[in-house]
Amino acid sequence: MARLSDPVTILKGVGAARAKQFENLNIRTLGDLICHFPRGYEDRTVLRTIDHLEVDVPACFKAVVMNTPRTSHIRKGLDLTKVQVADHTARLNLTFFNNRYVADNLVYGREYIFYGAVSGDFIGYNMTNPVFEAVDAPGVTTRRVLPIYPLTAGLSNAAVLKAVTQALAICDPPEEILPEAVRTEYGILPAEVAYHAIHAPDSMDEAQQARKRMIFEEFFVFSAGLSLMRAARAEKKVRPFEDTDMTPFYDALPFSLTGAQKRAIDEIRGDFGKGAPMNRLVQGDVGSGKTMVAAAAVYCAARNGKQSALMAPTEILAEQHYASLQKLFAPLGISVVLLTGSMTVKQKKVVREAIASGQVQLAVGTHALLTDSTEFRDLSLVIADEQHRFGVSQRSKLSGKGEDPHLLVMSATPIPRTLALLMYGDLDVSILDELPPGREAVDTFLVPESYRPRINAFIRRQAAEGHQCFIVCPAVEENQELGVKAAVAWAETLQKTVFPDLRIALLHGQMKGTEKEETMAAFARGEADVMVATTVIEVGVDVPNATLMVIEDADRFGLSQLHQLRGRVGRGKAKSYCILTSHNRNPDTLQRLKALCKTTDGFKIAEEDLKLRGPGDFFGSRQSGLPAFQMADLSFDLGTLKQAQVASAQWIEQYGTSDTPEAAALRARIGELFRRSEGTMN
Ligand code: ADP
Ligand code: MG
Repeated sequence: MARLSDPVTILKGVGAARAKQFENLNIRTLGDLICHFPRGYEDRTVLRTIDHLEVDVPACFKAVVMNTPRTSHIRKGLDLTKVQVADHTARLNLTFFNNRYVADNLVYGREYIFYGAVSGDFIGYNMTNPVFEAVDAPGVTTRRVLPIYPLTAGLSNAAVLKAVTQALAICDPPEEILPEAVRTEYGILPAEVAYHAIHAPDSMDEAQQARKRMIFEEFFVFSAGLSLMRAARAEKKVRPFEDTDMTPFYDALPFSLTGAQKRAIDEIRGDFGKGAPMNRLVQGDVGSGKTMVAAAAVYCAARNGKQSALMAPTEILAEQHYASLQKLFAPLGISVVLLTGSMTVKQKKVVREAIASGQVQLAVGTHALLTDSTEFRDLSLVIADEQHRFGVSQRSKLSGKGEDPHLLVMSATPIPRTLALLMYGDLDVSILDELPPGREAVDTFLVPESYRPRINAFIRRQAAEGHQCFIVCPAVEENQELGVKAAVAWAETLQKTVFPDLRIALLHGQMKGTEKEETMAAFARGEADVMVATTVIEVGVDVPNATLMVIEDADRFGLSQLHQLRGRVGRGKAKSYCILTSHNRNPDTLQRLKALCKTTDGFKIAEEDLKLRGPGDFFGSRQSGLPAFQMADLSFDLGTLKQAQVASAQWIEQYGTSDTPEAAALRARIGELFRRSEGTMN
């Protein structure tokens, strides 16, 4: 018996050259090979008679060779071999291109199993390049479900299949890591069966079951990993904070906090008192006041003599946080500094020294705050705003920093519960489901193209009142996607022909980082009336003076994304509006967009989005911080994900620390997944 760790070269027919090809697929060992799963299957189990073959639908059939194959040399590099076959229902002409093997292996008078698709024209039916095997040969390419593998140059599907089949014959598949109880409950194939079935299923149904098992396993391992991470952090000891009298902080605020804000703050204070590092996600719609919750946490830390760091995804956001927190904290005697990449070396040095000496209680900056050479005297609270760029592995690295700081992650993207568990399974969650009072909803309208003059008039009116307007287009350049508005061209059209007297700015993702930030900052300062942009503005600085958001070809976006975009307006005192345009007349699409006009509840919208479009939007363009799943396609396997999450939570609770071989194997697999994902989980 061979071992999973043996190199592929121990297989027959796999020499150095072939091994190199396998290496291109990241396959070095028998184990790698066995875990190289098919990307799909061809059902070659159906056996038909010739008269029942359907044009262009490949199938197997049994037929006798009616003549000796004849090869004719057409021209250099093109040989045609023709042969006629028949069963009791009909005859069929076969044509093979450049296939010497045929002439020697199709023998007149003998019976074979063929697999191919007929093509038909007015002359008659014909079949090109079918595969075939003798009736008494074991089915390798016919009469079976054929796995189709991801390939690389020089490596054919047949070669991969042959190697995998050999590997499975000479070594045991990876050991079982899913507990029997779990497998029984969810109807999951055992590992032993599944690894064979995924490569050589007896039926499409069995292939499906094997696939489900692998997906389930992937989700199970990942979810269990998050739970273990969470448990490990709960084991860590840090000195609990003294409970802080919050009155001075509350008194310093120009408003009273919402119930949801107070609840979140109390949960954070509870965490601080526990003696283990906090791991908390604060989730709340744009404008729900997450910054104040973070500020309260900073206040507690400062009153306990500890330092905090607040990280924003961009410099401008960092500056904005700095400005508002500085104003809030100065009268409370809490010192705040800003540290960003664009500061001069000298400025940075001064700030770093202040941080290192402990004079500073709060440092605001970009994520570089934690990675660069900044040293804190006593950092005990790390806050990450806009969590998308702050994934699982960054979180786990943070706890590896030695000081075990409390972690507070803030997210403005409502995420349905199932997905939130996948992305933040290692975090406790506080939800801000209440907006500060007096906040008026952004009135949202869906309009057809015929409203264009009215839209333009509306933009003009907002500008005349001194307000600003965003216009979001789905594409940057015209040729990028046909039939949708492209930001560059649309900005030009508007400037030249519609609003020559208004100041129009342009912002899109292909611009350089600094250029983007500068354009956004200028818009925030009121230096343009209209900003034509792509979705890059989704996360961005506050422009309270912006009162109108026009979203062109709104049907091109997911609901959650539209909601997020809409959140860029309605941040000031003035009444704000969102106009969605669409050429699309599909009733379902219009229904979807109308739903957005009716509700402002981000969580409801997110659930709806998940139902309608699958989780792609939540993981797509945004950096999700998730590992690259090998098998699981999140847009199809939501049901399996849910099951695996429930199962892993139950299992961890019961056996997470037990020392059965199964539990040990599972823990080893988790370690592997998280190590393998270091690079991809950002
Ligand atoms: P988020 O980060 O959740 O989008 P912010 O923290 O930026 O929201 O808050 C949005 C605005 O609402 C800010 O101007 C903030 O000062 C204000 N704000 C926050 N909490 C309250 C409250 N309880 N009452 C009134 N205004 C509030
Ligand atoms: Mg915010």
